[in-house]
Amino acid sequence: MTDDPLEPALILIIDDNVGMIRLLSSLLSEQGQILFATSGEAGLKIARERRPQLILLDVEMAGMDGYEVCRRIKADPDAGNCALIFVTAHDSMESEVAALEAGAVDFISKPLNPPVVRARVRTHLKLQLHAEAMVRLANRDGLTGLFNRRYFNEMAEKEFQRSRRQALPLALAFVDIDHFKAYNDSYGHQAGDTALVQVAQAICAATRRPGEVMARYGGEEFVALLPHTNADEATRYGEWLVECVRGLQMEHAHAGASGHVSISVGMTAFVPNRDDTLAGMIELADQALYLAKSSGRDRAILKLKL
Ligand code: GH3
Ligand code: MG
Ligand code: MG
Ligand code: MG
Repeated sequence: MTDDPLEPALILIIDDNVGMIRLLSSLLSEQGQILFATSGEAGLKIARERRPQLILLDVEMAGMDGYEVCRRIKADPDAGNCALIFVTAHDSMESEVAALEAGAVDFISKPLNPPVVRARVRTHLKLQLHAEAMVRLANRDGLTGLFNRRYFNEMAEKEFQRSRRQALPLALAFVDIDHFKAYNDSYGHQAGDTALVQVAQAICAATRRPGEVMARYGGEEFVALLPHTNADEATRYGEWLVECVRGLQMEHAHAGASGHVSISVGMTAFVPNRDDTLAGMIELADQALYLAKSSGRDRAILKLKL
């Protein structure tokens, strides 16, 4: 799934007949960028790497047949959300049922009827892009555009279990804007919203490694999930976030000594074992945030697991 709605849709054609690939490509070239593979194995690899929105899949292929390719694509957590259409010479009820049961959304029979092919692909592509847009919206916070708490909870649970299975360190950081009630009180709620978005953008830009998630946890609170990150790295990350927000130099007359908008960060990091829970990890990061607040704000504090 692409995160940029303006990128052209990707259409993958998997067929062991090069002539058929050529024909389909020419029919569909205006509907998206065409990728192709001449075997099931190669198609599966491209589907996983490029995550096309729509796949046209030949049923009869040497080696892995279309049904098997379809089942494997559908079982893949990344590639499996695509719209998959079978293309086959078998025009029977049984093969149509088999295609739909394997996870396809539609079925096109050979010989191809060009207007039918174009129309079906157009319809399914439209539905697919619509579904992807809905998923994007459901995962995002409306004001800042960051991931929302629901999405964070979902990812955090997955990452926690994965870190435990693989015995890898996981870090969690809570971020809270300092004296933000006073900011709203003196500059107005509208300006408060603008400041909130600026802080969100700054801390999000500082959280860009693969697998990292920065989300709005609620109000003026954010949370970051950092896979493969130990306590030292988490500390450096937290201090960097504080630095990034200082760097914005946003005036805040009631922010104490600094005179600028600042954040406090509470972190924890450890390799989760059998007795640990995500709730326990969140609690530790929250305690660290409380320490950062009570010891003067505008700083990052890490709390280790005892
Ligand atoms: P502290 O340094 O202890 O965190 O103080 P604080 O004032 O930031 O903390 P408190 O929890 O008392 O207040 C949080 C404020 O954040 C209250 C609320 O008005 C503001 N806030 C929360 N969400 C939003 C929002 O979406 N927009 C704006 N403008 N303000 C918000
Ligand atoms: Mg074939
Ligand atoms: Mg708060
Ligand atoms: Mg606050």
